[in-house]
Amino acid sequence: MSQQQVIHLLINQEEVQTPSYMEVRDPGRLTDVVGNVAIGSVAHVDQAVRAAHQAFQSWKTVAVEERCRLLLRAAELIQSEGEAVARLLTKEAGMLLSVYRGEVGMAINVLKATTEWAQTFFSPKQVEDGQSWVSLEKRPLGVIAAIVPWNLPLMLTMQKLAAILVTGNTIVIKPSPFAAIGVSVVLKKIAAMFPPGVINVIHGEAEVGSALSTHPLVRKISFTGGGKTAQFVMRDAADSLKHVQFELGGNDPAIVLDDANVDEVMPQIAAAAFRRSGQICVATKRVYVPKQYYERACELVCAYADQFSIGHGLDEKATFSPVNNRIQYQFVKELLERTRQSNARVMELGTRLEPENWENGYYLHPTVVMYPDPGQEIVTCEQFGPVLPIVPYHTEEEAIQWANSTEYGLGSSIWSSDPERALRVARHIEAGMTCINGANLSPLGLKHVPFGGVKQSGIGREKTEVGLAEFIEYHGINYHKETS
Ligand code: NAD
Repeated sequence: MSQQQVIHLLINQEEVQTPSYMEVRDPGRLTDVVGNVAIGSVAHVDQAVRAAHQAFQSWKTVAVEERCRLLLRAAELIQSEGEAVARLLTKEAGMLLSVYRGEVGMAINVLKATTEWAQTFFSPKQVEDGQSWVSLEKRPLGVIAAIVPWNLPLMLTMQKLAAILVTGNTIVIKPSPFAAIGVSVVLKKIAAMFPPGVINVIHGEAEVGSALSTHPLVRKISFTGGGKTAQFVMRDAADSLKHVQFELGGNDPAIVLDDANVDEVMPQIAAAAFRRSGQICVATKRVYVPKQYYERACELVCAYADQFSIGHGLDEKATFSPVNNRIQYQFVKELLERTRQSNARVMELGTRLEPENWENGYYLHPTVVMYPDPGQEIVTCEQFGPVLPIVPYHTEEEAIQWANSTEYGLGSSIWSSDPERALRVARHIEAGMTCINGANLSPLGLKHVPFGGVKQSGIGREKTEVGLAEFIEYHGINYHKETS
């Protein structure tokens, strides 16, 4: 897989060239061009949706076993190409190579897991009495548009693709312009395994996204991204009364209760906050710590963050990478600048591996913010960068109230040595997912917890049978045994 890629649109298994292309540069080495990605038009979107609509007529009749077989072949392909794809993702999207190797594994796992969830999902529900017989059947919706962000490009694309295709729908995928290359290289090969038109890939920004959300033949938008963009999608979808499924931003709180072992839990919380340089929807984005342990807790988080070596994702010595794009970089820098004007203490930590290249990438330090006001922007917004504000609290009730005080409600965590108390507090948290004494879902949690958020963090869920249900309609058939 060469490092300089030209990515075209993919419609009906054919590459389609467009009049203009977007240059993609390495976020850790802005002087390096990684490739060029086609910019599609409204007419291209129409072409892709019609191809998917045509393919739907036969794909919906393909047996679930065959759909699963093809998805497992897709998993094998990702497995065999994994290292090259991970390297390409590192160059175009900026995170550490080890992070993308992990993402390749996550993409394979979600493809395989979806085929397992599908085993029981389609069991028909049939009942009968003396007069009649009822069959409640699950039917695909049609063409689904999958709009994907840049921060987990391969895994999120496969998560959507697997659920959408296994339920008998066809798909038009719009990757993010900030992470389109690696995903498109993989999608081209996967699309070739499926009948023409089942998988189509379109590129571009808001105009192309909007053309998908307004197209009358698109039945549902499966969107992962920011809340502001989701508002546009929802408005666009309204004219044709499309279904929407949204996975949106988060501002996950971690509440450390006063019976927790601070020395043990703070490094775990720091790890959850700084992985992927904070660019993950379910990263811990604010911590509430009892007043009496506050200084010690901050000391532990700072010590953790200070160990990072900040450098290019392909540098084996690097343990911390740049952020993905200029918008994000500027946003976090300006947010920190405003925070410095307040009473909060902003501590930039970690070591620069290549000081001479610092300005040639979107490099930021892992940053801990001490003594912010609980209602301050740095605490209540989604920073989506390497920043962790730590807030001291006096009472458990106060911590719960602050945790629930934003419009976000994706993940969250409670840390305590008392299981009953932790569970009671967890049940008060307004979130789609709450972990106790861990920042992330365990393997069992990953298998059984549908992924998604409440309030303005999302609509609907992904993964598990609940996630599959997003892409079907029920069709009730009632057979009358005797006509009278
Ligand atoms: P974004 O909203 O800027 O972009 C997401 C996608 O929408 C991109 O493909 C973009 O090109 C497209 N888009 C832009 N304008 C559009 C329009 N008018 N109509 C349709 N599509 C349009 O988000 P981003 O910066 O790529 O990703 C970061 C955000 O995604 C963060 O808020 C993060 O929390 C969220 N996210 C959520 C989850 C989750 O599962 N809840 C997972 C990952 C990321």
